[in-house]
Amino acid sequence: KRAGGAHFVFYEPHMSARAKEQLELQRDLRQALTRDGELELHYQPKISARDGSLTGVEALTRWRHPERGQLGPGIFIPVAERFGLINALGAWVIEQACIQAVAWRDQGQPLAVAVNLSVHQLRQADLAERTAELLAKHGLDPALLSFEVTESVAMEDTGHTLRVFEQLGEIGIQLSIDDFGTGYSSLSYLRQLDADQLKIDQSFVRDLEHSADARAIVQAVVSLAHALGLSVIAEGVETEGQRDILSALGCDELQGYFYARPMPASALEDWRQNRST
Ligand code: C2E
Ligand code: CA
Ligand code: CA
Ligand code: CA
Repeated sequence: KRAGGAHFVFYEPHMSARAKEQLELQRDLRQALTRDGELELHYQPKISARDGSLTGVEALTRWRHPERGQLGPGIFIPVAERFGLINALGAWVIEQACIQAVAWRDQGQPLAVAVNLSVHQLRQADLAERTAELLAKHGLDPALLSFEVTESVAMEDTGHTLRVFEQLGEIGIQLSIDDFGTGYSSLSYLRQLDADQLKIDQSFVRDLEHSADARAIVQAVVSLAHALGLSVIAEGVETEGQRDILSALGCDELQGYFYARPMPASALEDWRQNRST
């Protein structure tokens, strides 16, 4: 009923309930991309393991669907990918992150914002060019924007990835390899790849307190990162025990519910204010 304009939804008798739902979601997402307020970035703090200071935030996209309520990216990112909306959504996310980073800078509280890139965005030949255009348009220092690319995506099509990383590095964008430890990076490729940070996947963090293997893996990733001149952040930190182990193992930054959940920009500003008083 909300499908106005040219966006019809066709139902075929053999379609599964899931296929129908996906079609409806892609129609609604198309509309959400053209109007304000449904899509929103939430921001999760990244914390220095050394002194507990706020080092930046990760932007995580949320969708306030008019009928279904708040949807997480696990629901709508696959829909966007499947129906060719991911580049439009990805561009919207990068621009929103720029606008927010400019606002925080102008409030005298600069904060670096990290954005997650999908495989399709990384495959765009002109990603660096478009990003440079957005930075110029908003007058944002590239030091205040960074990208996270999952290890498995970074390891596909390595020739192309090397080039894009190099171009992004040239315009001053920091790059983090997300979910590190779940893919199969070769060490020589990792050395060539011009990344700045490894992000230890939350599956290892979850097991830290009970598994010597998980501790050994984290220790190895920290050594590898530092040997290659990369910093290392752990995600999914939920307990004090995990924080203590990660700090002891030499992780540079920590992120997770133990510190804060992802939250809207205004809530993040309050959180920051309360912390400093
Ligand atoms: P990710 O990049 O690995 O993000 C971490 C996920 O873990 C986020 O889920 C975050 O809310 C959640 N998280 C943070 N701290 C904790 C914790 O202490 N414990 C646990 N159990 N979870 C924690 P979220 O927001 O549902 O995002 C899921 C995935 O969706 C992200 O995984 C990312 O790959 C993708 N995603 C989110 N926003 C975007 C986007 O704008 N573009 C693209 N391409 N992907 C996005
Ligand atoms: Ca991420
Ligand atoms: Ca991750
Ligand atoms: Ca993950």
